[in-house]
Amino acid sequence: MGNELEEQIEEVAKLIVNCKRLVVFTGAGINTESGMPDLRSPGGIWSKFNPDDLTHQKNIRDPEARRRNWQMLSIFRMVDSVEPNPAHYAITELDRMGKLDCVITQNVDGLHQKAGVPEEKVIELHGTARWVKCLSCHRRYPMEEIAKRLQAGEAKTVCSYCGGILKSATISFGEAMPAAETAEAERRSRSCDLMLVVGSSLAVYPAAYMPVYAVESGAKLAIINVGDTPMDRYATVCIAEKAGVAMSKIVERAKSKMA
Ligand code: ZN
Repeated sequence: MGNELEEQIEEVAKLIVNCKRLVVFTGAGINTESGMPDLRSPGGIWSKFNPDDLTHQKNIRDPEARRRNWQMLSIFRMVDSVEPNPAHYAITELDRMGKLDCVITQNVDGLHQKAGVPEEKVIELHGTARWVKCLSCHRRYPMEEIAKRLQAGEAKTVCSYCGGILKSATISFGEAMPAAETAEAERRSRSCDLMLVVGSSLAVYPAAYMPVYAVESGAKLAIINVGDTPMDRYATVCIAEKAGVAMSKIVERAKSKMA
């Protein structure tokens, strides 16, 4: 490990030790070490589907688009088999150290919760693939239950309560971000004194406004991402390293300082 990386890790560890309210913001880059492809990269899930099919409006109007949405859902099921990686566990450790205000995530996989971050501390800006929702009565079904019905050959899976259209509780393109989650994420971003961005290139808005809110409100910013981000120049530290490698070292270092 180079000296520069060593210094950067030391610097982020110090920021963590000295902060009072830490918000961690995560994106797809945190998952590459879990063996899950970046959904938006070439060859990723999105590239196999026409994003136009995934708009909210089309899902309501067009049965064929809904069928494709279901195919997409069954691919999302692979989320079940994906396990958290060292980056997720390092973030959970920040919670056990009493440092974590919340995790704001662009991911829909539920891996932060699977790694042990309490449900109420995870804000999922793009929804969740762990649930399926009825567009009419808003009833929610666990993905496993719907997956079983699909596997059993049910062609037209509809809400068993009201017959309404079921859709993954993820946020499709063209669909607004969930209002309550977005407002809560903004509030937490504005009231933290340190934001740690892990594995996001901060390219997808409005999610990517969260670090902007944090910086505007006087928080320090640290970014751990393999590529550049538009917020790099506002960050106290940028670490161009894989999330798992960097986060494990950072948390280990912060713990030793707090001991
Ligand atoms: Zn329903």
